[in-house]
Amino acid sequence: MNALEQTTTNASVAVRPKTFTELREGQRHSPVVTRDSACERGYNYRWRKARIAYLIKNPLCVECASEGRTEQAVVVDHIIPHKGNRELFWNKNNWQGLCKRHHDIKTAKQDGGFGRV
Ligand SMILES: [Zn+2]
Repeated sequence: MNALEQTTTNASVAVRPKTFTELREGQRHSPVVTRDSACERGYNYRWRKARIAYLIKNPLCVECASEGRTEQAVVVDHIIPHKGNRELFWNKNNWQGLCKRHHDIKTAKQDGGFGRV
């Protein structure tokens, strides 16, 4: 019985770490990921200031407001996903303040989970 248990344990341990390593290596070696994050740093500084200014002017979650509730907005969300489009990204008519819950709901609904910015 002991021998059988050992075999089973060894087999699953041998398979799983290999899969994880392969996944990680794949991400690390992708040049696209590096370029994107370097580019985002410039965006992030400007975006951070812009979103704070927006949240001061629009402090409430618009989705909660439409449900008749009052919740503080913590995320500036793009109503139309910008998908890297600068014009959509910086167009304030395309912004809305959301609480974390509503932002999570919206992100989960959008395929691919692009809503990290
Ligand atoms: Zn909300």
